[in-house]
Amino acid sequence: MAVASNTNFVVRNECPLCRGSAEVVWHESIADSWIGPYLVQRYRDVSLEDFKDVPYEVRHCPICDFYYQTYVATDTFLEHMYIGEGKETSLKKKRDADINRFIGFAREAERIAVLLARRPHDVTVLEFGAGWGFWSLMAKAYGYQVHGFDTAPIRVAYAKENGIHFYTSLKEIESGSFDFVFSDQVLEHITDPVGALREATRCLCPGGLVRLGVPNAGGADTLLRNSRGRPLKELHPLEHINGFTYRSLVVCGEAVGLTVLPSLTIARKLIRRVGLTQNAQYLQDAVKHVFSQNSGTLLYFIKT
Ligand SMILES: [Zn+2]
Repeated sequence: MAVASNTNFVVRNECPLCRGSAEVVWHESIADSWIGPYLVQRYRDVSLEDFKDVPYEVRHCPICDFYYQTYVATDTFLEHMYIGEGKETSLKKKRDADINRFIGFAREAERIAVLLARRPHDVTVLEFGAGWGFWSLMAKAYGYQVHGFDTAPIRVAYAKENGIHFYTSLKEIESGSFDFVFSDQVLEHITDPVGALREATRCLCPGGLVRLGVPNAGGADTLLRNSRGRPLKELHPLEHINGFTYRSLVVCGEAVGLTVLPSLTIARKLIRRVGLTQNAQYLQDAVKHVFSQNSGTLLYFIKT
């Protein structure tokens, strides 16, 4: 990684997953295109000057099938940007979500006990990148021994008010102390996704499971060509700096010693659950996850 001439950014010339060389599939000036004014409006406390000499550039690694933004904002600059967005706006988005979001949280929490074939109370869960802690709160209600990890003090303080124990550094966690690591919409934001996942996996016991969910950036080069004048959600400027596909998410997991849980294992466990509940919703859920486990970007891994 190199420092950019604009000190708000660092440069990722090599593929963050395999360190191979990747081709540029998109390149345009931030300041001189629609992107600059869009970012200034979105984050308020930033100006076009903050993006001087920094392009919005996307590369694709043919080995990993991984898309990534070359220019990545530093933690200091990101913090400044997010403070500009305001605590209330960020919290409101999560807290005032539609009921379906919370139903989804409950399904995710339930699935852990089903996949591990254990009672919730006997399972230790780490939510990696837990944000304001709403999913952790749901998992706690199910009886899991849940802990969150996040670095933003304002979010950690909020989660603690809700009775969730949060770590602010993974270094505080003893190796092998968790049965399950849950991560949703986190890895796409991290400059070194392999390094972060390696540290999270260290906290997992042998035989433990990791659930990774990220946006699916498959075919992003075509999507970018068709998205003139508005941000591509999967590779949102400055935020979604990593664009995962099925293959690249598998590569990321394998780089830290994880193995994708076979889709047949998922099918056997989830479909058995359908039989026990007689609930059509569970069948839909089971089919969705078996399909994702073969081609999607919501994957369960096992630490062998
Ligand atoms: Zn690569």
